[in-house]
Amino acid sequence: MEKKKFAVIGGGWSGIYALKYLLEEQLDARLYEREPNLGGVWLYKEAPGGVYRSTHVTSSKTFLHASDFPMAKEIAHFPKHDQVLAHLNSYADYFNLWSHMHFTCDVVKIEKGQDDQWRVRFRNDGREIVEVFDGVVIAVGQHQTANDLRHVEPLDQFTGTMSHSISYKEPDDALYCDKTILIVGGGETASDLAVELCRVARRIYMSIRGGQWFQERLTGDQPADIHFTKSLGFFGFYDNIWVRIGWSVLIRPFWGEGGTGIIEWKPRCRLFHGFINKSREVVHRVAQGIVIPKRAIASIKEKLVTFDGDGKPVHIDHILLCTGYIRSHPFLDENLEKEVDIKFLYQLIFPVNLPNLAFVGTARPVFGSIPSLAELQARRVAQIFSGRAFLPSPTNMSTWLSKYWKRHTQLYPFDARLRQLVNQFEYTELLADEAKVKPNLWRLFFSQPRKWYTIYFESPWTPFLFRMNTIESEDEKLAYARHVECIPRPDQPFGNYKQFIRSAIVCAY
Ligand SMILES: Cc1cc2nc3c(=O)[nH]c(=O)nc-3n(C[C@H](O)[C@H](O)[C@H](O)COP(=O)(O)OP(=O)(O)OC[C@H]3O[C@@H](n4cnc5c(N)ncnc54)[C@H](O)[C@@H]3O)c2cc1C
Repeated sequence: MEKKKFAVIGGGWSGIYALKYLLEEQLDARLYEREPNLGGVWLYKEAPGGVYRSTHVTSSKTFLHASDFPMAKEIAHFPKHDQVLAHLNSYADYFNLWSHMHFTCDVVKIEKGQDDQWRVRFRNDGREIVEVFDGVVIAVGQHQTANDLRHVEPLDQFTGTMSHSISYKEPDDALYCDKTILIVGGGETASDLAVELCRVARRIYMSIRGGQWFQERLTGDQPADIHFTKSLGFFGFYDNIWVRIGWSVLIRPFWGEGGTGIIEWKPRCRLFHGFINKSREVVHRVAQGIVIPKRAIASIKEKLVTFDGDGKPVHIDHILLCTGYIRSHPFLDENLEKEVDIKFLYQLIFPVNLPNLAFVGTARPVFGSIPSLAELQARRVAQIFSGRAFLPSPTNMSTWLSKYWKRHTQLYPFDARLRQLVNQFEYTELLADEAKVKPNLWRLFFSQPRKWYTIYFESPWTPFLFRMNTIESEDEKLAYARHVECIPRPDQPFGNYKQFIRSAIVCAY
């Protein structure tokens, strides 16, 4: 029988994972990427888009390993973009993916053809080519199309220069040198660029509209995000006793409201109910008076900008919009684009009424990493497309969706634009459960209690968790060994979890 044929659109982290897992299911899969190489945003280019010259990841390496292909040991906790790219290249080498990848292939149209197949039209080398597939995985990323607000009020009133972070490459640019800059946005790019531009700008104002949670990136010399263990979910993932202890014992007394203490940036939501910015270094620049924190922009008159809560306007030369990105699929027609709106994607992957279309790379964690979620999404897609697993009926998927979005609105009341926001633990457990790749904790509790304890209380979330099951086969033992290597060193703050709980309880009294 002829093998079913699948297309993966996009050669970033998500597309690479999608291709690998489709091939692993013995399917005929081909990846189409418009750039001349793989890497997505991690492929540095001078043209707008992707990383800037100094980009390092903000989620620690622990969250960036592939479940069966760790990042090299010599790579530091927060690698630079070229190291990420090298890792992705090694991944493609190791899993023999190159011959299935087609570069400089810009997909311009995807349409439903006869027999529910998909017609994919792409441009390559000046030619237009159409291929027909039994299924398509769209993995075109969340950071490709700028949310450019230049023509939106009140920004359209500004008469100075203005740009979006999508075109930022380095600080030594006439737009920034010796200028008074206003950075708009509270995400990691905004705070990283504020720190970087301090070197050249005269002064920087940073406006965050609805406040923002910030988290310190390190505890001791280790990443702070590796202290979240599975036990965090014991009382539910939100507002539980650990979160409350962490908030009242650690965050508020040490770093202040919202993780910064900066009144203008005080978040409207509670901890874990909105995106957490892991680039807190900007707070030091605020303390040095180089970055001036501001609330939302109230009005603009030529080059004079007034902020909420301020009477007096300030003169701005350049506005740098760090207002994020929008989800966009210009190769889909209008009706199809509506059908694949994220609110109609079962588990943020499968459009309810289009069973042979799937999305990978759609979820963004409050803390954690996009690629670690994309890997589990890719595993799930491959299971479904190969026929090894099945989706629920459209009615059941719709029921799931209405419950999901109702809860989502309650959990993240102020993040209407970030609809892809998920909790790393909760979302990966959901997918791993369905894909049947979760560690079997009940069985481990009785058969290997020491390992059960380590997984539950001592070790951070890692992608290796989803290769362990009962830790009996050689592959499972290897995954467990890799997982254990990510445990915080005991000589570092909170390295010893028992010690952390003991001191937290003592402090709480
Ligand atoms: C500066 C910066 C820093 C970041 N830091 C982190 C971090 O620390 N941690 C984290 O988790 N995430 C981070 N991200 C988010 C980043 O998007 C993910 O890490 C990851 O790259 C997502 O991979 P992806 O494959 O889903 O998307 P992308 O990397 O965006 O790849 C999508 C690919 O699809 C291709 N494509 C798009 N349209 C077409 C088409 N029509 N035809 C053919 N190909 C197409 C694009 O060329 C691109 O190669 C960062 C993003 C930026 C911009």
